[in-house]
Amino acid sequence: MSFNTLGLSEKVLAAVDAAGYKDPTAIQAGAIPQVLERRDVLGIAQTGTGKTASFTLPMLTLLEKGRARARMPRTLILEPTRELAAQVQENFERYGTNHKLNVALLIGGVSFAEQDKKLDRGTDVLIATPGRLLDHFERGKLLLQGVEILVIDEADRMLDMGFIPDIERICKLIPFTRQTLFFSATMPPEIQRLTETFLQNPARIEVAPTSSTAENVTQQLKAAGGKDYDKRVALRELLEGAEDLQNAIVFCNRKRDISTLFRSLERHEYNVGALHGDMDQRTRMMMLENFRKGAIKLLVASDVAARGLDIPEVSHVFHYDVPINAEDYVHRIGRTGRAGRSGTAYTLVTESDQKYLRAIEELTNQSIEWVGESIDFEAAAAERKAKRRSSKTSKADSSNDNDAAQSKPAPKKRGQSRRKTEEPAPESPVEETRPTNRVQKISQKPANKPQKQDNNAPAFSEGVHIPAFLLRDPRAKKAS
Ligand code: AMP
Repeated sequence: MSFNTLGLSEKVLAAVDAAGYKDPTAIQAGAIPQVLERRDVLGIAQTGTGKTASFTLPMLTLLEKGRARARMPRTLILEPTRELAAQVQENFERYGTNHKLNVALLIGGVSFAEQDKKLDRGTDVLIATPGRLLDHFERGKLLLQGVEILVIDEADRMLDMGFIPDIERICKLIPFTRQTLFFSATMPPEIQRLTETFLQNPARIEVAPTSSTAENVTQQLKAAGGKDYDKRVALRELLEGAEDLQNAIVFCNRKRDISTLFRSLERHEYNVGALHGDMDQRTRMMMLENFRKGAIKLLVASDVAARGLDIPEVSHVFHYDVPINAEDYVHRIGRTGRAGRSGTAYTLVTESDQKYLRAIEELTNQSIEWVGESIDFEAAAAERKAKRRSSKTSKADSSNDNDAAQSKPAPKKRGQSRRKTEEPAPESPVEETRPTNRVQKISQKPANKPQKQDNNAPAFSEGVHIPAFLLRDPRAKKAS
């Protein structure tokens, strides 16, 4: 199928041509004609499928007729994160080069005054995160009665982030006569319910979920001890041993681990940056930009970075944690091995990760090889069980018997002594004291000071600067 048969305008086709796209992707072929027919669309597709162009291209075609009025945007696109919102804006700029449309972005971290000015001029396309949109609405600076097309993108991500009540509110503020385009990678029951409430007889276009991982990505597992310290050591071993490492994303499941790992890698003199949802907008954008242009080689990130962000050419992906959601594994490793290049994905696995690892291997229908020694999960589980039993027995013994001799600790089991010898003796003092001092030193100042100071500082410089978000994270003080 060719783009020419989908009903897109000449101007849009010229932009598609300039972008170098030959054929529409499955979601584009399915959605574009439906959007142009003014039908509601339910697109079940994830990032990487060409989903963004499946709504931006027909929207541009439709927007060629009509004009924007002050404070009354003609179309509204809701995105869960600022990065995704910024990316959609870039798409409008790229595909809309032949149009004279006003595109505005309403995201946190940007001044209200600047955004108000844009709204006053009249916007054809308003791209927003739900919270910021409602802030503007409540300040009376925005009228939603003129919205003809509403796009809800990454709905399942919105659900994860607790935005569904905001989305419901926004949907009720927009005229019933609007056209709604709704995209989600998965369809959990809450999302299903939302589509039943807010979509009218939608055309359903489903693109097969990405359950397969690219063949050109080498995947390997590495056993690590359960303690954070053990994992950092194992990660550094992988980093040292990795062949042809040009740039990499290190994914963590928890935000607080991102701060700790970032500082640790920085201390070990890696060229590293960090990216997660709590960072201020300016720092996030700079981090991403620095990573894109190669000024940062390693990016420690949460799944915010895995979904949606168009980060080109990552040679390696490291999972500091086994992802809890198997689909996230596929998303994460989708950052490497793009466009036929080869890539490598390593996953650190601890004794308690069996369930998550199994889910990944089932989803991707493969068995992932271990680099170095593998974990014998059955033996580890038996050992844990025996340890629990022995600690119960020794507790019962000591409470039943007053004889001091009897209450001596039970002889050490194999697992216990091993754990003892694996304590992070040599490195932990360095890891412990230096970041704590830095954080304490600055956190003694008034709350607004470090933030201001850090926002003005470069977002990244090797080994010197800690981004503001690390200093503001109260848990960062507990860094190990
Ligand atoms: P998306 O799923 O919207 O994030 O798009 C993923 C990537 O695919 C982006 O880098 C787009 O520029 C690219 N892309 C979108 N549509 C096409 C197409 N028809 N042919 C080739 N690349 C495309």
